Amino acid sequence: MALYGGIEAGGTKFVCAVASEPGEIREEIRFPTAAPAEALAQAVAFFRSHAEREPLLAVGVSCFGPVDPNPASPTFGYVTTTPKPHWAHTDVVGQLRAALQVPVGFDTDVNGAALGEHRWGAARGLDTFVYLTIGTGLGGGGMVNGRLLHGLMHAEMGHMRIPHDRSRDPYPGWCTYHGDCWEGLACGPAIEERWQQKGVSLGPEHPAWELEAHYLALGVTNIILTLSPQRIILGGGVMEQQQLFPLVRREVRQLLNGYVQKAEVSDAIDTYLVPPQLGNRAGVLGSIALAMDAAL
Ligand code: ADP
Ligand code: ZN
Repeated sequence: MALYGGIEAGGTKFVCAVASEPGEIREEIRFPTAAPAEALAQAVAFFRSHAEREPLLAVGVSCFGPVDPNPASPTFGYVTTTPKPHWAHTDVVGQLRAALQVPVGFDTDVNGAALGEHRWGAARGLDTFVYLTIGTGLGGGGMVNGRLLHGLMHAEMGHMRIPHDRSRDPYPGWCTYHGDCWEGLACGPAIEERWQQKGVSLGPEHPAWELEAHYLALGVTNIILTLSPQRIILGGGVMEQQQLFPLVRREVRQLLNGYVQKAEVSDAIDTYLVPPQLGNRAGVLGSIALAMDAAL
């Protein structure tokens, strides 16, 4: 059976896996994201040790960013301007290709997760949908008319501007570029700085979640109105707080105020705004899917 390698290259950890055509993981490792030379060497060693037994047809990478995902660009497959120490202008694809001698697929972390959910999870059969992660940052990717969303660079939905009522929430925001953009107000570190507590230790009844749901609903509503997705998947560590889902669904409907007259939103919002079906495997399985596409 054909085997593929996948790397979910996150800002804090790498997940590497070998999987077969139906997305069945054979072997997986995780390690903290060291500087590029070390992190990529660890990934290469893992794939080489597997390839000694069974060859890999291709490798896929879903990568933290910003990245260059344009195959026609001279810096395709690079992490570009990231503030993460040592990682700016790193040729991820070139180094992996040289070391492993196989085709290497590459996209943003969120487009990768979206592709995983499209092939094996909550977005099967859809052609326009969005995958959001609310974690250390807040980012979105997805598919439009059956193709992963690219364009000028890649979507940066997390940095959209949303209303911020400073009398309700005086917290100035976390984003180093914009302060109170969507990510600045709603990512995991923003919650922790605003409430001076780990998100995971705030009880489910804490007012933090009502405010978080408010911000998530504002951004999600803008995305519904901009891209007209057939479904939105909300993943990432913050969404482990399951009580957010009903709060976000309710407020999105209030904000839309009956304007989007589709049953998905008006009658079936529980299946419209959903968690990832692949759970925390969406990213690494998406990377496997990128590898499959690179091998074609
Ligand atoms: P990453 O963004 O590195 O991929 P995560 O998606 O797990 O990782 O996001 C980590 C962020 O999510 C942290 O800011 C953390 O506080 C927050 N987080 C993780 N788990 C939970 C949880 N169960 N409840 C609330 N916040 C969480
Ligand atoms: Zn921002």
